Amino acid sequence: MHYLKAIFVGLFSWPLIVAAGASAQEPVDYEVIERIKAEAFGNSQVMDVAGTLADVYGPRFSNSPSYNRAIQWAQEKFEEFGFDAQIESFGPVGLGWENRYTSVHMLGPEYMTIIAYPVPWSRGTEGRITGTAVFVNAAAIRSEAELEAYRAEVRGKVVFVAPERQLVPDFEPSGERFTQAQLDDWSRFFVLPQSEPATAVYVPPTTSSLGAPLPLERIEAFLETAGASLLVSPGMGTNLGAFDKGTVRVVGGAPISPADPKPMPHVIVAPEHYNRVVRLLERGVEVTIEAEVRIHYDEEDLQDYNLVAEIPGTDLAHELVMIGGHFDAESAGTGATDNASGSAVVMETMRVLHSIGAQPRRTIRAVLWGSEEAGHLGSRSYINNHFANWETGEPLPDYDNLSVYFNTDWYGRFRGIFLEGNPLVVPIFSAWMKPFNNLGLTHLIPVNTRGTDSDSFNAVGLPGFKFLQDDLEYFTTTWHSNMDVYDRLVAEDLMGNAAILASFAYHAAMRDEKIPRVEERLINGRRWLK
Ligand SMILES: [Zn+2]
Repeated sequence: MHYLKAIFVGLFSWPLIVAAGASAQEPVDYEVIERIKAEAFGNSQVMDVAGTLADVYGPRFSNSPSYNRAIQWAQEKFEEFGFDAQIESFGPVGLGWENRYTSVHMLGPEYMTIIAYPVPWSRGTEGRITGTAVFVNAAAIRSEAELEAYRAEVRGKVVFVAPERQLVPDFEPSGERFTQAQLDDWSRFFVLPQSEPATAVYVPPTTSSLGAPLPLERIEAFLETAGASLLVSPGMGTNLGAFDKGTVRVVGGAPISPADPKPMPHVIVAPEHYNRVVRLLERGVEVTIEAEVRIHYDEEDLQDYNLVAEIPGTDLAHELVMIGGHFDAESAGTGATDNASGSAVVMETMRVLHSIGAQPRRTIRAVLWGSEEAGHLGSRSYINNHFANWETGEPLPDYDNLSVYFNTDWYGRFRGIFLEGNPLVVPIFSAWMKPFNNLGLTHLIPVNTRGTDSDSFNAVGLPGFKFLQDDLEYFTTTWHSNMDVYDRLVAEDLMGNAAILASFAYHAAMRDEKIPRVEERLINGRRWLK
């Protein structure tokens, strides 16, 4: 019963809770929970939904045509589940961008197929190009004069623009379920679980006795004006095994506007393939690259879309319990673990509640968010329209009607719930977790988190929560990579997550009071609004 220990320590850390939590026991409806579990495990559609999003619609990159097709399908699927779901637009967010074809090869000195993905927002090549490879080590260029020296050398060439990435054997398992000891530690102390060892992150050298290298944007701008035909970089990641062996991590960032220049053609390739070319060039061997990249820009539709479905409440229908997850994904894989998984769990949660005939007192509203990977744009815009002015934090009329928001991003089993600086929820969430202890949900984690759409709620003082999830292979393999695909998903984890989310949403919608808010809180040491 590790969670009791966690709660005891929680109480000890926050004398405040003794007063708040010592009152009546938080009610738990075991009869409804059994029906939720039976539906979520007996009639699950979560893998079918996740598989459709990942396999049929693919990357669902922010504001891309595949995103738009996927959200239309999800709206229809919600209808099939018994909901009148609405697509709500927001924006403008910028250009749509989609990889339509990418093919990169080394033709000489010997033939090699190269695993390659375009950098989001970059242009395609001018048809199929063939060029000699040149190595320009961007990390070692410290002045405009050094850069200028490359001008004649790069014209019409394929430029390998980063240093060789050192790869070493990886003796760690790539998948992980948290141990009870790890969960106990995180429930005791105010530390964030650090899934990715800080020392393992590849950081290009920024300073030395010779000074800082020029910014990459400056080097890219030079290479474009100097007439380079294509830039090539190795996949980002660690040098301790993750994101190599053909796994390529590609990150998009914020969309560009129609007025922005479209960046020059640029592909990210498997580090092993990248390194071989760079070593050949360093040996003085001539390397010939053939490449063709076709990019589709959507200049017409600059809006992006959230999808909203709800179960109307009864006597407290004007109050809201919200659940959600982001529907967009990065471009190289099919966004299965980030976040077809969470999107499917949200849709399945609503299906389960509808199927068991749940009649919540408060309205339960699910939202699948657009453009999370581009900066949480869908949830920020929603907050701005419904709850509080995003810039000033000034509340709108619905601000006081929201009870709570639960977010699900990623794919591992729910193992705990982050408290986000709110000690008042300890007795409530403890009671709600108990029926799911046997699915592995056992711990309250007293830390504040950042990094997904629940931030948008927390930023204006609304109670947004997310679950601590088993990493599985996220930080070693799937994180924004070409290997974020359906095969990584674990059905039992997603079924359990849907059951838990359904129960949390239902209990939040049924209790007499809304989820208590704290007046002021520290998020990662910083004072936030409210
Ligand atoms: Zn995500």
